[in-house]
Amino acid sequence: GGTIRFEHVGFSYDPERQILNDVSFEVPAGKMVAIVGPSGAGKSTISRLLLRFYDVTSGRITIDGQDIRDVTQASLRAAMGVVPQDTVLFNDTIFYNIKYGRHDATDDEVFAAAKMAQIDDFVKTLPDGYDTMVGERGLKLSGGEKQRVAIARTILKAPPILILDEATSALDSHTEREIQDALDRVSKDRTAVVIAHRLSTIIHADNILVLDAGRVVEQGTHAELVTRR
Ligand code: ADP
Ligand code: ADP
Repeated sequence: GGTIRFEHVGFSYDPERQILNDVSFEVPAGKMVAIVGPSGAGKSTISRLLLRFYDVTSGRITIDGQDIRDVTQASLRAAMGVVPQDTVLFNDTIFYNIKYGRHDATDDEVFAAAKMAQIDDFVKTLPDGYDTMVGERGLKLSGGEKQRVAIARTILKAPPILILDEATSALDSHTEREIQDALDRVSKDRTAVVIAHRLSTIIHADNILVLDAGRVVEQGTHAELVTRR
């Protein structure tokens, strides 16, 4: 399961200004759909609606045919894993920050998830860099490393649906590539909505929506979109 459908979705934070206009798309179960578009286009708003931080003002969003307004917040959150752009970590070891994804996970499972996200060197450290084993202040985690902790947490949770807010250009290209690899691994065979800023980073998406000023202005595969330009 895990098919997401946006059906003629309209949304505004306040009545003065429409943010999303008649947005319709489908993310078939197990497929990856990327949403690209300029800053302010409404990309993050789409992820906030999926998580039900807000409800649509018109149209509807369904998961496996069920309107998400009829699903409890708890089961909706349980079905989804979110990797935000700015990951805020608890002031506890990276190990526990990862384990938070699934409290009944074994230590081996936590370490395996850390390895997949290439964060295994940091499991004993605290987010501010304090190493609980060595008792020394070590490397402070960078934004990219924190994001990889969120990826590891999501790998461990293994939810049917993933919402990935992609790394920004603020990350160096090496880190970005590593994050991309980790994201590709975690999203394999899962329903994934990826918010991206550049077309070059979402080559593997099954479908790409180009959002501009709250409307889907174009859609297709990476190859189709590149050919049209
Ligand atoms: P994107 O993710 O594509 O950059 P957003 O979805 O964050 O775009 O924002 C879309 C529009 O909604 C922007 O014009 C933004 O200023 C506005 N917006 C975002 N959040 C709020 C909010 N909480 N209240 C009012 N307007 C908002
Ligand atoms: P993100 O972190 O995904 O960019 P934010 O909600 O922080 O999302 O901001 C996205 C855009 O929406 C920004 O341009 C921000 O200035 C704008 N925005 C956020 N909250 C509000 C708000 N309450 N009213 C108007 N614009 C907002």
